[in-house]
Amino acid sequence: MLLKKSFKEKTINSVQMGKGTVAFQGVKLNVHCFVVDGVLIDTGAKSLEKEFKSFFKYHDIDQVVITHYHEDHTGCASFVHKELQLPIYMNDIMLDYCKKKPDYPLYRKLFWGKRSPFHAEPIGTTFSSRHATWDVIETPGHAIDHLSFLNRETGQLFTGDLYCQERIKVVLREESIPTIIESLKKVLTYDFEDVFCCHAG
Ligand SMILES: [Zn+2]
Repeated sequence: MLLKKSFKEKTINSVQMGKGTVAFQGVKLNVHCFVVDGVLIDTGAKSLEKEFKSFFKYHDIDQVVITHYHEDHTGCASFVHKELQLPIYMNDIMLDYCKKKPDYPLYRKLFWGKRSPFHAEPIGTTFSSRHATWDVIETPGHAIDHLSFLNRETGQLFTGDLYCQERIKVVLREESIPTIIESLKKVLTYDFEDVFCCHAG
């Protein structure tokens, strides 16, 4: 497979950011994972498992939270659960779906690989890390189970795939742009500082 892969890491305001990129015939896609205060936010794509594995092993992680079930955010969830024995928390809507082998279009399998089944637990409306309490904010639209996470202590907001573009090129069948806009308005009612997006970084 002529998939070109790369991985970059940087730290911004104590947030360790891992960025994996896959490129195929001029199309380039990337996905981020974040580690802060012992929390891993999202697990990257299966096609980048080798790259993300060393990132996960290198950092000190107590627990994993997932913004939504898509394969570029849950691709290495099975690895972190089985090999690193970390608990995974996500919206309960897609818990059962994640226990099974997923079905998604070929072009997504090509870029992101085939996500293995994994077990997660329901996240609730808040959670705690070493030094902080976090709000779990329901932000559907991009995916039915989409969540954003706000660290109340630092004001850092992790928004997964919550964004909309001025000129939209591709919309998934399950996506609803008006619902995304409602979710964006909802996060604006919270008091936050930095925003970490899973694709823009
Ligand atoms: Zn997504």
